[in-house]
Amino acid sequence: MIRRDTPLVLFDIDGTLVHCGPTHCGPTPRRAFKRALEQTFGTAGPIDSWIFDGKTDPMIVRELMAAAGVACDQERIDQALGRYARDLEHQLAAEPARKVYPGVPGLLDGLDKTGVPLGLLTGNIRAGALAKLSSLGLWHRFAFGAFADDSAVRRELADVAVARAFDHSGRRFTGKKIVIIGDTEHDVACGRHLGAKAIGVGTGRATREQLLAHGADHAFADLSDTAAVLAAIMG
Ligand SMILES: [Mg+2]
Repeated sequence: MIRRDTPLVLFDIDGTLVHCGPTHCGPTPRRAFKRALEQTFGTAGPIDSWIFDGKTDPMIVRELMAAAGVACDQERIDQALGRYARDLEHQLAAEPARKVYPGVPGLLDGLDKTGVPLGLLTGNIRAGALAKLSSLGLWHRFAFGAFADDSAVRRELADVAVARAFDHSGRRFTGKKIVIIGDTEHDVACGRHLGAKAIGVGTGRATREQLLAHGADHAFADLSDTAAVLAAIMG
């Protein structure tokens, strides 16, 4: 039963819930992405130096192919991302550095007790999100999500997530009753047009201070202080 006053909580994945390798976006996802692009387009463009954070998977493909001067249409993007997700699922099983960030399981347990609807709001395609979170036992914790398959534009994903929350709970969440938790300024910005509450977490590339400077309502170094994070979400 979802109480009338509970907020909707939407989590980013990489840098927020999980870490999939020794750098932020991780060699394993990046290697799988690179291989899929090479197989589909014959090149992965300047992928080794490209920043993935805060971007949707299809947007990354478009940017890299534009930089490489290679034409790409939606069909080939879908083909490349399908290859990527299948490869990622195999590769992640053998990635020793993958981990859930401190405090995440405790926070999810705490939120479950309050009956808060938990969703994902991510630039990953659904199959990539599934591979990452399943490999760390977290996929089943989320009732719904908005993924890069829904829109390549992150800001539009916030609207999709709110619509999915309505389908799931029958409630229309608005303003500060929508809580977005993420590790980049893109997460902080993506719910701004909805008046959402942004909670930053410094486990990704940005620090707590940088996330506050980008307009986060609250920010934490990590999510391990369950009581403080719950107070920020519910307050
Ligand atoms: Mg992230």
